[in-house]
Amino acid sequence: MHAETNHMGFSAIIVAAGAGSRAGAGQAKQWRGLAGRPVLAWSVRALLEAGAARVVVVIPAGDEAVAAKALAGLLGWTATPGGATRAKSVVAGLAALADQPANSIVLVHDAARPFVDAAHVAALTQALEGADGAIPALPVADTLKRGQDGVVSATVSRDGLWRAQTPQAFRLAALSEAYAAWPAGGGEPTDDAAVMEAAGGRIALAPGDPRLMKLTYPEDFAMAERLAAPAAQTTRIGQGFDAHRFGPGDHLWLCGVRIDHDRTLIGHSDADAGLHALTDALLGAIGEGDIGDHFPPSDPQWKGADSGVFLRHAADLVRARGGRIANVDVTLICERPKVKPHRAAMRARLAELLDLPLDRVSVKATTTEAMGFTGREEGLAAQAVAAVEIGE
Ligand code: MG
Repeated sequence: MHAETNHMGFSAIIVAAGAGSRAGAGQAKQWRGLAGRPVLAWSVRALLEAGAARVVVVIPAGDEAVAAKALAGLLGWTATPGGATRAKSVVAGLAALADQPANSIVLVHDAARPFVDAAHVAALTQALEGADGAIPALPVADTLKRGQDGVVSATVSRDGLWRAQTPQAFRLAALSEAYAAWPAGGGEPTDDAAVMEAAGGRIALAPGDPRLMKLTYPEDFAMAERLAAPAAQTTRIGQGFDAHRFGPGDHLWLCGVRIDHDRTLIGHSDADAGLHALTDALLGAIGEGDIGDHFPPSDPQWKGADSGVFLRHAADLVRARGGRIANVDVTLICERPKVKPHRAAMRARLAELLDLPLDRVSVKATTTEAMGFTGREEGLAAQAVAAVEIGE
């Protein structure tokens, strides 16, 4: 919670009671997925993070279970059934906030505008000071035409014209009174400011934002998906190196594959140098230290451990950061055992552990021409690189 962005406190009503049939896909648009979560969840989360004390979502009657699933994991919201019109739904939302102080701020927002954020809320609550309402609004940039039967009948001056967006900010009791005063034959208000204006209220214009666009048509969702994607992806590289000593035994583990051999590799875990080097490469790509930080050799639970656990942990950390492993490449350095007969199995095992297609996984092998500790067969070494695509 970022309570400092709004010291006055506020509550919010999110109107999500429409059928939204113009957006296509045969599903009310508030429940449709947008970059992995329902449209409604975007603004509920954003308003809670901006400091909302309460968020009331006004939903179609009978959709309570759908809302609970869509907003699972978020705390601080309640759902209330809406009415036949937007205005009736807002009135239902106001009734659900009857326990809030009369002079407290209420924001009324359309569920179909998912990209509201704390900066919008701060601008609106500031603009509300000295006014009866505050709305985000953008000046009209396009030339306006009046048309009839497919032809222009007039060019309309855009001077002083604004496009009203949501959320719109009011005092709770004042907005309730304005709705109560809305004349029965007054038609359908298309926003809440119109209701407050009709009651004689003064509405302040706060800066609008193209990101507060309303998702109405199928093509709006395509644009929203692009907006929801991380602004920029960058590729990060990590590298790892490991070596283990040979000792008496009859098999060893390399890149998650058991290989019969006349010696084994000595280590606290299963001593799989290939998996250890690759784990360090992934940790290195995201700046998460090394394998010893995450799995201390002093911890008895890792004695004899399957090193696949270490690699999976590193891959999970990459995914938790919103990253995606682009490719990995492991080089094993030894005279014996001969790696080539096991390379296909090693690649397949790494691809399985990392949940990657095979063409993103490489295993290579080399000797050191009988030089050095690997040449004398005192031990075996492995090095690895990993590329990770991650948001800035
Ligand atoms: Mg090691």
